[in-house]
Amino acid sequence: MENPTAPKAGAMLHLRGNTLFEGDPVALPLTQSSMYHLPGDWTGGPSYGRVDNATWEHLEHVLAYLEDAPTLAFPSGMAAISAALFATVKAGSKLLIPSDGYYVTRRLSERFLQNLGVEVEQRPTTSFADGGFEGFDVVFAETPSNPGLDLCDLRAIADAVHAAGGLLIVDNTTMTPLGQRPLELGADVVAASDTKAPGGHSDVLMGHLATRNEEILQAAREWRQFGGGIPGPQEAWLAHRGLETLEIRFDRMCSTAQVLAERLAAHPRVQAIRFPGLASDPSHGLAKQQMLRFGFLISVTLDSAEQADAFINNCPLIRAATSFGGVHTSAERRARWGDAVAPGFVRISVGTEPAEELWNAMAASLAALGS
Ligand SMILES: *Cc1c(COP(=O)(O)O)cnc(C)c1O
Repeated sequence: MENPTAPKAGAMLHLRGNTLFEGDPVALPLTQSSMYHLPGDWTGGPSYGRVDNATWEHLEHVLAYLEDAPTLAFPSGMAAISAALFATVKAGSKLLIPSDGYYVTRRLSERFLQNLGVEVEQRPTTSFADGGFEGFDVVFAETPSNPGLDLCDLRAIADAVHAAGGLLIVDNTTMTPLGQRPLELGADVVAASDTKAPGGHSDVLMGHLATRNEEILQAAREWRQFGGGIPGPQEAWLAHRGLETLEIRFDRMCSTAQVLAERLAAHPRVQAIRFPGLASDPSHGLAKQQMLRFGFLISVTLDSAEQADAFINNCPLIRAATSFGGVHTSAERRARWGDAVAPGFVRISVGTEPAEELWNAMAASLAALGS
């Protein structure tokens, strides 16, 4: 399958190059400075390292191009999600979050937002729209959800949330802007962790927030500037370098995931599998409607925690690690973090290894489990 956003990714690679003058460095310079030369009255240029940095601003420029919306970079996905929430809720607000999404968003809401007078409700992703959105000021959705890979209908939810007078924030981490475009589906804000596929090499944490709503953008910018959680220039440089190969990595990872998912689905050791690209997946119809690709995350359920650990640890092409989206295929048993999943539930993040080589290694590890 041709990556539907490939033409945009090509222009993205030349976004900076087309603005260069003779003798300028082709690679993005790293501006490692807290101070800027400021003689006389300030005339609006860079003032101080918590407010301005040319390296993170270029990262934002590329992300804004991909999102097709003004974008702010943050030092992690959670910093971006915090900014999205603190820029939109206030005391007395009612907030809806997924009960089965990334668990730190729940922890943040329960530990801090509730104490500030925000009423927090939770719903599972598959039935996220059940009960409607009347009375909710902010609705925060995540699809496909991490780790369960359940989907919710973003366009229908955006319409219903707006009809009820609320705002919709979408955590798009699992798909990246190349695989799913929540703003085009009606969301007001996208927040995402670029620690995952956009960084891609498991060596940097980063996040971003994109919105076409001026008021929210300004509030999130001030939250970052006043709260002080800014991206480090070196990290921004690494994240930018990762973005330059995102399209080719994401394309390979999604294509390989499709091949592996079909073979895993037919494997006798696999009790259950979730991958939106499988015709048998309960979310396949919706996935075809709202996602450009089916992603690179697969979840499989094996017989037991022991079998799950043996499958992961005996496969030389699977790194046992939490997090996902890196060039190295990785996997983990999510029950070890207390996620509400079966003991033998394994989330696999498909990397950039060649599909056949990876499948041979996985098949050997599954075969070694015995029968
Ligand atoms: C990892 C992740 C986050 C948090 O990102 P960090 O960069 O680790 O702060 C948020 N949402 C989802 C869906 C994630 O997978």
